[in-house]
Amino acid sequence: PPSQRIALVSGANRGLGLEVSRQLAAAGMTVLLGARNLAAGEKAAKALRREGGDVTAVQLDVTAQADVDALAERIERDFGRLDVLVNNAGAYFNLDDRASSVDLAYVSGALDTNLLGAWRLCEAAVPFMRRHAYGRIVNVSSGCGAIDSEGEDCPAYRVSKAALNSYTRMLAAELKGSGILVNAVCPGWVATDMGGPGGRPVADGAAGIVWAASLPPQGAITGGFFRDRAPIAW
Ligand code: NDP
Repeated sequence: PPSQRIALVSGANRGLGLEVSRQLAAAGMTVLLGARNLAAGEKAAKALRREGGDVTAVQLDVTAQADVDALAERIERDFGRLDVLVNNAGAYFNLDDRASSVDLAYVSGALDTNLLGAWRLCEAAVPFMRRHAYGRIVNVSSGCGAIDSEGEDCPAYRVSKAALNSYTRMLAAELKGSGILVNAVCPGWVATDMGGPGGRPVADGAAGIVWAASLPPQGAITGGFFRDRAPIAW
């Protein structure tokens, strides 16, 4: 149907991205499951199709502009629309790095993936969303990127998430009134490969992301930072 929603999720071959893809597909969306390792993506997509989802794996390293460009061309060719973008791909979480001593190559890797990855995809997605005056962009962030969050560990990761939060607000402000809603979501501490076994179930962390990806037009919630559907401090 012409109103079929198309969603793109980055870093979706495992962890939160995979579960967000599952939940969006269960809600009836067509899901493009982004993976930098296409074979891993195909495997994940196949599992979701077995559950009844309309899910297709797509090649997407968020640090590779060529991947983003090729994917935008494919979306144009195959669908001519993109309704939902979940910038979930993330990395560079290391409890041992320190602001005074962290390897700067590590910092630039964190920024390239966690900030610029989202930025590249937003740049590609917004023109599609403007066509139908409808879009939901979710930047998967972290409460540890909040400016007054306690602790001094993982500065590269935290700075990248603080920057992602800042970018979220700027993009939301630019797109105000366009029908495109842009929000940052912290999934909480979740038991993925990144979070480790102590975190909460992946489905619970994913639910808050899916909520922001499915916001109704009423109220036009945009430019916010949420955990479990509730606003949290920047
Ligand atoms: P995982 O480490 O389990 O999964 C990360 C995913 O991102 C993988 O699919 C990985 O792909 C992908 N990825 C990494 N770099 C790139 C890249 N350059 N291009 C494309 N994909 C990439 O992490 P989570 O599922 O836990 O995290 C998902 C998001 O949630 C991240 O943004 C993270 O910062 C955030 N978050 C997680 C928390 C937690 O407790 N788990 C807490 C707060 C925020 P590959 O398999 O190829 O490595």
